[in-house]
Amino acid sequence: MAEIFCIHCGGKNLPEARFCQACGKPIVQANEPESPAAQQNLATLECPYCGQQIIPAAGVTQLVCIQCAAAFEVKHEGSLTKLEILRFP
Ligand SMILES: [Zn+2]
Ligand SMILES: [Zn+2]
Repeated sequence: MAEIFCIHCGGKNLPEARFCQACGKPIVQANEPESPAAQQNLATLECPYCGQQIIPAAGVTQLVCIQCAAAFEVKHEGSLTKLEILRFP
């Protein structure tokens, strides 16, 4: 499984992404050479609306669901990572 990169902001997204996790703009698929993912230590969350897997990148405080475009704030509480809803899809 290879990532795709947002043409608007360069953010990394899952191949099935329809919206960029970082900037929320629609993903346009581009045929670019891709390198295998090296980082597997990030928390994995699920969108409460559509169940889409969401992987917040390190240091990211706001996310957009790549399936339904709901916006979330990422909150870190100890070892837990939580999503707080900012905008409904
Ligand atoms: Zn983007
Ligand atoms: Zn969603």
